Amino acid sequence: MMPISQILSDNVRLLKAKAAKPAIYGVTIAIGAVVIASALVSVINTGEISINGIVHAQSSNVALWALDLMPFIFAFWGQYVSSLIAYEAGAMVIDQTQDLRTKTTALEYQAMHDATHDALTDLPNRILLRDRLQQAIHSAQREDRPLAVLLLDLNRFKDINETLGHYQGDRLLKHVASRLKHVVRDADTLARLGGDEFAIILNPLSSLEDIHTVANKIQKALAPPYTLDGLNVDVQASVGAALYPEHGTDADTLLQRTDVAMYAAKQEKKSFVLYSDKLDQQSPRRLTLMSELREGIKNNELTLRFQPIVSNRTNGIHEVEVLVRWDHKIHGIMTPDEFIPMAERTGLIYPITQWVIKNALKQQAAWRAVGLDVGIAVNISAQTLLDPEFPDQVTGLIAAYDVSPQRITLEITESSIMFDQELALHILSRFADMGVRIAIDDFGTGYSSLSYLKKLPVSHLKIDKSFVLDMLANENDAIIVNATIDLGHNLGLKVIAEGVENEETLDRLRKRGCDAMQGYHINYPLRAEDFAPWIYGASQWGQNLPPGQAIN
Ligand code: C2E
Ligand code: CA
Ligand code: CA
Repeated sequence: MMPISQILSDNVRLLKAKAAKPAIYGVTIAIGAVVIASALVSVINTGEISINGIVHAQSSNVALWALDLMPFIFAFWGQYVSSLIAYEAGAMVIDQTQDLRTKTTALEYQAMHDATHDALTDLPNRILLRDRLQQAIHSAQREDRPLAVLLLDLNRFKDINETLGHYQGDRLLKHVASRLKHVVRDADTLARLGGDEFAIILNPLSSLEDIHTVANKIQKALAPPYTLDGLNVDVQASVGAALYPEHGTDADTLLQRTDVAMYAAKQEKKSFVLYSDKLDQQSPRRLTLMSELREGIKNNELTLRFQPIVSNRTNGIHEVEVLVRWDHKIHGIMTPDEFIPMAERTGLIYPITQWVIKNALKQQAAWRAVGLDVGIAVNISAQTLLDPEFPDQVTGLIAAYDVSPQRITLEITESSIMFDQELALHILSRFADMGVRIAIDDFGTGYSSLSYLKKLPVSHLKIDKSFVLDMLANENDAIIVNATIDLGHNLGLKVIAEGVENEETLDRLRKRGCDAMQGYHINYPLRAEDFAPWIYGASQWGQNLPPGQAIN
């Protein structure tokens, strides 16, 4: 590529040439005027145009001398003005280039900043923390000294969030972040890992006492009540810490061990716990599970269950919800609650979701091949939903298994939308454009922004089972269920109730106009091979399905 200075000087030359053109015309006209005037004077003096007459006119007529100067004046003026214009234009181009450069650098910096910082508190995020920790480990290694990592998690944050709403929850997190900033030194790193989890790298660490001092300072800083929505709220934190090189010599091990220590602090209701091998023995399951899960995904230890959701209108199957299980070699079948939260924290949720969608679509294609055309609903965690590559991955799988996008529902929670509304809207719209249906899962348990719900391409609301389970006995629950059905219908959405455990609840929901129902009363989450025999056998819900002669 040509260097920018070369391009600029070429442009300046071009401009100069352009500006010189009128001057050249001026010089030509002036010379023409001199010739004509000399000829005229020659005619006046001698009665003819002759060389002698013109030479005589030039030597004797003073007015012609003034005219003779004109071409020189034009030439000089042209040269001067063209240089001036070219110089000014050049300066303008340089200024604007500089301006653009500054703006581009600022945008690049902003993009980099956004990718490495938490939007709410502007603190470094998990990615930057890991990077800084790696650098800190390198320098500690070189200088042969220790460093410490602290992980803190607010107690009861979930309750506060649920009681006062996410807006107040976010305000609280901002307050906590700014109080924590005062606790750390400039050289330390304070990061927000997501939710109510914060981490601190203490580097350098002069003595072991330092960690205890910082842990105390953290509790002191967080202790004064926060005023939220006119209420005074108390917040304490559970802090766990691990040391380099004593507890780990790489970033991942150190972070994992601070996590174990923090978890122990929570369990033992202590404000601070420093990691020790003993903790691993106390929670061996938790620690080893993380590495086992990684292996388990690769070794196909995950397995799927399919729970039927029935339609009020057709009295047939609306779709099946896909629920993952982990068939652990020692612990046996583990439910998602035992490993999904951990998978979300460690990033393993990405390969899990991939595995689940792939195998669910495979199963759907297998059912269709034997004449059973059933839609599937898959649970999607916030992180996966907000991964910009996710829609492309799903598109690829849909094509690979030749499944109709209209037969797929993604179940997402309200909190995953609220986390980054713009991005969620963008990604959900891509799915909706494909024809994939979106359901809001666990509706009623989180913070619902109704105005936002209206804007989203959502087609179903799933009333959380906590309201449905007890709706016959608990009037408040019944009110919430009814209100959600009405709300959904008013927004033009279909409403599904989960947690239907008996005939009376099913009956009540049907009468109340709920569109679809799911629960142990209809059936438990089933193995793939048990689903077809059930639907074509004992169940009352198979009538609207095509005959399943091929199924046995
Ligand atoms: P969820 O999405 O609310 O799923 C419904 C849960 O309620 C399932 O538990 C199901 O077995 C249970 N359930 C269904 N009917 C009844 C009933 O009548 N009574 C009672 N008490 N419970 C009922 P499961 O399978 O243990 O799943 C728990 C949660 O794990 C799910 O809650 C979902 O949030 C998550 N999960 C499951 N599979 C996946 C997955 O593949 N990816 C992700 N990200 N999350 C998943
Ligand atoms: Ca669900
Ligand atoms: Ca639910």
